[in-house]
Amino acid sequence: MLGPVILAASRSDKMRRFISAAPGTKQVVDRFIAGESVDQVVPVVRDAADKGLEVTLDVVGEDITTPEQAAAARDAYLELIGRLKELGLGARAEMSVKLSMFGQSLPSPTTALDGGPSGSAPEFPGGHYLALANVRPVVEAAAAIGTTVTLDAEDHTTLDSMFAIHEELRKDFPQTGCVIQSYLFRTEADARRLAAAGSRVRLVKGAYKEPASVAYQSKPEIDKAYVRILKTLMQGEGYPMIGSHDPRLIAIGQELARQAGRKLDEYEFQMLYGIRSEEHVRLAAEGHRMRVYTAYGTDWYGYFMRRLAEKPANLLFFGRSVLTK
Ligand code: FAD
Repeated sequence: MLGPVILAASRSDKMRRFISAAPGTKQVVDRFIAGESVDQVVPVVRDAADKGLEVTLDVVGEDITTPEQAAAARDAYLELIGRLKELGLGARAEMSVKLSMFGQSLPSPTTALDGGPSGSAPEFPGGHYLALANVRPVVEAAAAIGTTVTLDAEDHTTLDSMFAIHEELRKDFPQTGCVIQSYLFRTEADARRLAAAGSRVRLVKGAYKEPASVAYQSKPEIDKAYVRILKTLMQGEGYPMIGSHDPRLIAIGQELARQAGRKLDEYEFQMLYGIRSEEHVRLAAEGHRMRVYTAYGTDWYGYFMRRLAEKPANLLFFGRSVLTK
């Protein structure tokens, strides 16, 4: 019951100001956010590598309002990739990006942008082309250090644009990944399309507040869809990335991989920094590829609120932390 309320609050500026300023917030935020800067996240990447883990790095931020902020997001990723190169950590770390942070929802002009339409009516609003223009150099820089980028899935209204950008980037960088969400009715068809040779697809349950017209609302339905979709990915020719902390789905994922005759390096598990950390290490010790989604940066509000919404006990912990400060 609390999840949808917290997700609604995640879009409220008033709540953003209140929660960001509350004493005790930082202590709880630190559980999910690995640091504020590149300097703070580098030791986390090294520590993960020492434990046999890989990472996907997310510079937190979304819902930006100006093209300058979108360019700053691009530059933050380029700075990160530059540091990984200097430190020789490129092979251990890939990047996860939210296209909203790259300008996807801005009402930008559609001309003079990389990938923009020539002549005919644009298929998407201008922000789509701005996001493509901003994300392309990040994908290029990642490829130059031997790693790659995965496009996160945001709310359902953004997904046609995300998949079109994914397809466009894959023409030059076929290893570019994307995320699909089992709570959406559309995802089984998306998975069939994406389960092709060379594709990299992360399957998650989905973290946004979605209406019943487009998404399953109950956990059993979302979980059953997850299994059906994972089966499609495992039996396909792409590289499935199992993004979940759910012990039942992790066991099913292992079994589906076995049935599909996949070797341990032909799929991977992914979990979030700060959640079930002992399980990260256990799966890696069993020989699985385990990638930890590691978010860092200062604009953590939206990311943090989704983590609170996923587990009401986090809210209790947060409440206690604020009250005892
Ligand atoms: P759940 O049934 O929610 O959780 C299973 C168990 O995991 C819980 O019982 C609990 O023990 C633990 N757990 C789960 N969440 C938390 C939490 N927040 N705090 C503490 N314990 C917790 N969603 C998107 O919509 N788009 C994305 O691009 C996206 N990328 C993701 C990338 C990764 C690597 C992962 C792991 C998740 C991502 N998500 C994304 C979030 C995802 O959609 C789910 O909201 C989230 O993973 C919780 O679902 P679950 O599969 O872990 O199962």
